[in-house]
Amino acid sequence: MRGLMMETPLLVSSLVEHAARVFPDTEIVTRTVEGPIHRCTWKDVRSRSRRLARALQASGVREADTVATLGWNTQRHLELYYGVPGLGAVLHTVNPRLHSTQLIYVLNHAADRILFVDLTFVPLVEAVWEQLDTVRTLVILTDRKHMPETTVPGAVCYEEWIAGHDDDYAWPELDENAAAGICYTSGTTGNPKGVVFSNRSTVLHAMGSSLPDAFPVSADGVVLPVVPMFHVMAWGVPYAAALSGYKLVMPGPRLDGEGLTELMNLEGVTHYFGVPTVHLGLLAHWETSGASVPTLKLATTGGAAPARSMLRAFLSRGVDVRHGWGMTETSPVATVSRLTARHEGLDEDGKIDVLVKQGRPLYGVELRIVDEGGRPLTWDGRTSGELQIRGPWVCSAYLGGEPGSALDGEGWFPTGDVATIDPEGRMKITDRKKDLIKSGGEWISSIDLEDMAMRHPEIARAAVIGVPHEKWGERPVLIAVPTPGGDPSKQSVLEFLEGLVARWWLPDDVIFVDALPLGGTGKVQKTELRARYGGGIGV
Ligand code: AMP
Repeated sequence: MRGLMMETPLLVSSLVEHAARVFPDTEIVTRTVEGPIHRCTWKDVRSRSRRLARALQASGVREADTVATLGWNTQRHLELYYGVPGLGAVLHTVNPRLHSTQLIYVLNHAADRILFVDLTFVPLVEAVWEQLDTVRTLVILTDRKHMPETTVPGAVCYEEWIAGHDDDYAWPELDENAAAGICYTSGTTGNPKGVVFSNRSTVLHAMGSSLPDAFPVSADGVVLPVVPMFHVMAWGVPYAAALSGYKLVMPGPRLDGEGLTELMNLEGVTHYFGVPTVHLGLLAHWETSGASVPTLKLATTGGAAPARSMLRAFLSRGVDVRHGWGMTETSPVATVSRLTARHEGLDEDGKIDVLVKQGRPLYGVELRIVDEGGRPLTWDGRTSGELQIRGPWVCSAYLGGEPGSALDGEGWFPTGDVATIDPEGRMKITDRKKDLIKSGGEWISSIDLEDMAMRHPEIARAAVIGVPHEKWGERPVLIAVPTPGGDPSKQSVLEFLEGLVARWWLPDDVIFVDALPLGGTGKVQKTELRARYGGGIGV
């Protein structure tokens, strides 16, 4: 017997319709690229995304066509998040921090027809315009007054472009499996690969990531997503926001600690989402200026392993932390770590031990760890293996590939991360497969070693790389950024680590630097560190 319930398709457009109907006056506040604060409501977002859909259609964009953006977190970008997939086209959010050769590659590979850019990125586009094969129109996300001079022929002003269209528009009833968005992976090796989200996966991910043990925010919440809308759809926050109907505060281009603190206090922000680099800037500002954000209840971190000192700094200020793990291929949110009632009795270190783990899978995704032969390993919190994942918001193939071509023979997606899982289902990333260090035939986890090094009171950030070694094959080298005012010596760091890790894990060298090289998505570029410091020992 078949169930007799409606088969309502899960569409991105249904999210903005819901928000506009049920939370019409809830605000979207933006610190604009042009400067001033801009205010609108969910009702306005619906109206303007419908007008945008009409404008796109009028310029020849049809279902399944791809449209690209190079934009900050703003209300105009939010309109694109709804207007483009709403009409059945596909929103390709491009990371402006990509190297220009990769920028050209992804725009051509996705066959984007129209490119929407914020003022900041117009020079970037001008530099590559001649090499774009498919983009025909550049739309600049601003009004007439702020339109820049540009060498790009026929550049269009966004506000004028949508002004000529009304919002009397009914979203088409699409197949829920129709593509909604494309994000390219960071591409640390080879060319970036396109991950194609569907309407269905986007809506399910928004629901899943709003579950009580994930990133729940009610309609009373005031949320500042610092995670960029140009990287994995800002962790789906722009979609979860409409589903729950909360107020969004968009930081535009100003992401420094002072600017964020000012905006948080201006709008009474209760929740914010960021990567560790952003948290560090914010906390450093609070530390030096004595500033605080009394309304802030929760900081959410993800995208890279969090430093213990960072978690401690939030907790000691009464700000709860949730820590998520995921990747572009997983939409991205797949696991979340949080403190539960069971952890109340723990001391601060014990709580941090829980929070540094990447956490439990959300309903909808399944995890497993496997050995080199692909055999599942036990969940004992000690045995580590490659992490594999499956679920309705996990990619099955990359753009251009056959469905299922990114999966192993049993239908699992291999993440390239190495992890342990404890008996309660809490996953902990111990390394990237390619960053593991093999010394004398035994594995050293670079992440564990970094974690230990960052417990040193005078170390703010740490990265460990394996360098070739004549006798051991590879040995670890620690590259560390001292805390402001800190002046640690190599000796003090090694002595500190001696009590914490096995002797053979002790780095063969400690190199102090002012900053670690970060890639386009805020991750430490270990390839660059290896090129600089990986010369080898005795080889
Ligand atoms: P991306 O596709 O750019 O989002 O990168 C995904 C990769 O970032 C993952 O495979 C992990 O290696 C890393 N990553 C994401 N979140 C975390 C986290 N919470 N802790 C450690 N590594 C993370």
